Amino acid sequence: MSYIGRFAPSPSGPLHFGSLVAALGSYFQAKANGGQWFVRIEDLDPPREMAGAAELILQTLKSYHLFWDGEVVYQSQRHELYQAQIEQWLLTDKAYFCQCTRKQIKELGGFYSGTCRHKNINDASMSAVRLAMEYPVENFQDLRHGQIDIPPALAKEDFIIKRRDGLFAYNLAVVLDDIDQGITEVVRGADLIEPTGRQISLYKMLGQPEVSYLHLPLATDKNGQKLSKQNYATAIDIDNPVPTLLTAMQFLGFNIPKNIATSPIDDILLWGCKNWDLTLLPNTLQQIHDS
Ligand code: GLU
Repeated sequence: MSYIGRFAPSPSGPLHFGSLVAALGSYFQAKANGGQWFVRIEDLDPPREMAGAAELILQTLKSYHLFWDGEVVYQSQRHELYQAQIEQWLLTDKAYFCQCTRKQIKELGGFYSGTCRHKNINDASMSAVRLAMEYPVENFQDLRHGQIDIPPALAKEDFIIKRRDGLFAYNLAVVLDDIDQGITEVVRGADLIEPTGRQISLYKMLGQPEVSYLHLPLATDKNGQKLSKQNYATAIDIDNPVPTLLTAMQFLGFNIPKNIATSPIDDILLWGCKNWDLTLLPNTLQQIHDS
């Protein structure tokens, strides 16, 4: 089977150093495996998006000479696919409406215990849609980090696939899109290790072959906080990409020879594809928390 990988940024702000690391890691892993590398804009959550960010992200990738294969896919244009799947599951009792509030769930111990599973709520307004969990996944193998364990209560939870405010949940959209795009391996930041179990549950539910996973180390700021668009990580330099590219590659474990570091950007990337080595990746992982 040929390798298909992807980079799937959410356009909540411009590309910052942490997302460049995810872009590069997924790019090198795809190219080192002779594969294709797709880009998908995960514009699922308009209130958290910044106008123009998607375009800016794509421009930044181009300025770093990270050219993707095929057309860019936008999740905002794929609601029908997500909704059709939800409706099919609602009809077959594999998903159900839930009107519990976050506060109520917190009062009951923090994990949702299936309160609305048999209530037959028919009112889609003011309801979230939850998956009736059939295939809890309590561990999976990560290519760099080995076995990742997921707390059983979290693995068993009937998680939300469509939010009460009508937005589709990230876990649902990401899995339906990865399947639809034929993605064979998911490479992304370690902040998404925890939802991976839920995503594998969805593959099982859909009777689809599982993909492999590689979670990259997270770039943090001086206080150990994850760099994210939400905490205003600064946009990376788009006019002079090489210094930032080299820093991001060093972060991914590369030891870049001087003659390569002073070469044109395409040669640096080509050297990166040839010298990409998972054993050099720092194996720092974010802890999985119980809530
Ligand atoms: N859209 C997610 C983010 O920007 C990444 C999703 C994924 O790679 O699975 O954090």
